[in-house]
Amino acid sequence: MLLQKRAAIALGLRMCSTHVTKGPLIDTARPNADMAEFRKVFSKAKHIAIITGAGVSAESGVPTFRGEHEKWRKWMSQDLATPEAFSRTPSRVWEFYHYRRELVLNKKPSVAHLAIAECEARLKKQGRSVVVITQCIDDLHRQAGSKHVLKIHGSLLETRCMTCGEVTVNKRSPICSALKDKGAPGPDVPDAVIPVDKLPRCDESDCHGLLRPNVVFFGETLDSHILTKVEKEMETCDLCLVVGMSSIVYPAAMFGPRIASRGVPVAEFNTNVTPKTEYFTYHFQGRCGITLPQALAPHESEVF
Ligand SMILES: [Zn+2]
Repeated sequence: MLLQKRAAIALGLRMCSTHVTKGPLIDTARPNADMAEFRKVFSKAKHIAIITGAGVSAESGVPTFRGEHEKWRKWMSQDLATPEAFSRTPSRVWEFYHYRRELVLNKKPSVAHLAIAECEARLKKQGRSVVVITQCIDDLHRQAGSKHVLKIHGSLLETRCMTCGEVTVNKRSPICSALKDKGAPGPDVPDAVIPVDKLPRCDESDCHGLLRPNVVFFGETLDSHILTKVEKEMETCDLCLVVGMSSIVYPAAMFGPRIASRGVPVAEFNTNVTPKTEYFTYHFQGRCGITLPQALAPHESEVF
């Protein structure tokens, strides 16, 4: 029994995705879209957890490569962001990540990123806290000024050595000379087929191992140190916002529902309803660049 439970937990921490389901919101007592009521709850919250997904970065122009219309060449991210794809075709996977790195190096935080960062700074002065738990692998929350950020899926701008395990922040453009001008996304662009010794390699003396993006691939488990911190935040928050998340990638899709199961109010901000909408107290439909600044603006009860 215990073993079974352990297996289930381990499986639950492996990153995987389900199909997107979109449809009209079923007319039930919850969730509601009462912003005035949400604002009252917000004004009393001391520890706010904001869980963000690709929708926040999409408003900065960062594609997710998750839909049919968002393919890179012939593939979606779940075809390329896997350990199997990286070991079979490291050149192709590096081209894909090189393209994504170059994209995010040129993007600026969106209105939603800025609203979250401003809220954290303002509430800190009032002895209240905001933590961002994000699935996004770009650096836009930090660029916006958010200080307390837990990146559960890793970072596009970090590498990890396959040989020595060294993790390094790496914002070089291009990351190596062989990838210069490679990674074009068009459906007819042929693979560059870069020899593995010309792909990004470790700088540590005597190592020279192959580097990989320090991101969590589909099928891999999430970093246990980060997950421990996420668990603590999920236990202590007294308000949760789930922003720009399609809630189809696990285990992050379960974070909001788990917090809601403690009786904590959870508000979803998304362009569509999601498979998890029914678990939440509030659902604010629309672009989070429009709904979030209203939700997180200074409340009249805040003392400055
Ligand atoms: Zn190394």
